[in-house]
Amino acid sequence: MYDIKNPPVRWPKGYKSAACFTFDLDAETHWISKDPTNINRPGVLSMGTYGPKVGVPMILNLLQRHKIKSTFFVPGWTAEQHPDVVRAIVQAGHEIAHHGYLHESLEGMTRQKEEAILCRGLDILAKLTTSPIVGYRAPSWDLTPHTLALLKKHKFIYASNLMDSLWPYRHPGASDVIELPVQWLLDDGPFFAYGTRPPLYRQIYAPGTVYSAWKEEFVGMHELGALYNLTMHPQFTGRPSRINMLDKLVRFIKKDGDVWITTCRDIAEYVRENPAATPTTR
Ligand SMILES: [Zn+2]
Repeated sequence: MYDIKNPPVRWPKGYKSAACFTFDLDAETHWISKDPTNINRPGVLSMGTYGPKVGVPMILNLLQRHKIKSTFFVPGWTAEQHPDVVRAIVQAGHEIAHHGYLHESLEGMTRQKEEAILCRGLDILAKLTTSPIVGYRAPSWDLTPHTLALLKKHKFIYASNLMDSLWPYRHPGASDVIELPVQWLLDDGPFFAYGTRPPLYRQIYAPGTVYSAWKEEFVGMHELGALYNLTMHPQFTGRPSRINMLDKLVRFIKKDGDVWITTCRDIAEYVRENPAATPTTR
């Protein structure tokens, strides 16, 4: 149990809190993994294609304007279909991390099969990037009892899947792997993901509502010196009104200059290298 009057992480350079603006570039895999027959539905697939085609350029433009480095979690299939987009992200100085092959659910999967997917994704991403892939986010954040051991074996330094903390921490039993916690509240999916069939047949929220939810959570997390780990998808957040909302949010978060805004890799390396400043377990 944390003592919230004494936040467990001391951030570098006097920063009060930290923030990662992360993007899961699911593209078409978001729809194919939900239903393989969607491969024959061009209208459905086009919602995913919008991500690499339009969303990413808009996001890269916003990040460049704010001089922010981000982390993009990319399924291997997306990288195979859109290699130039992945190269453009790398070229702009952002981190590429692992996000499965076809955004497949890992639920009930054998360790052997999970490891094969992990290695397949690593091979594909390695051909498009210049630095090693060290971060992993499971599709839908739904990892298995084998995942952490596999990440340790394959030299990942962080995972970003669990919802049990506001601060990064070392995984007990796999302490080389740093957890960067997430939450559905700080994901654009629950607000913006929409499909014509269940399970995605739901309300679309106005950007102002989402701005309010995300800003207010930031205000609270900042007070606690937490890691504000925002998960977005180019196919959802990459719409003009939502990009404008994100721009406003970034300006709000940057306004006092006391938030360390950087990549997941930078956060994980700091936690690994500064055990005195960071918690050893959750
Ligand atoms: Zn995803």
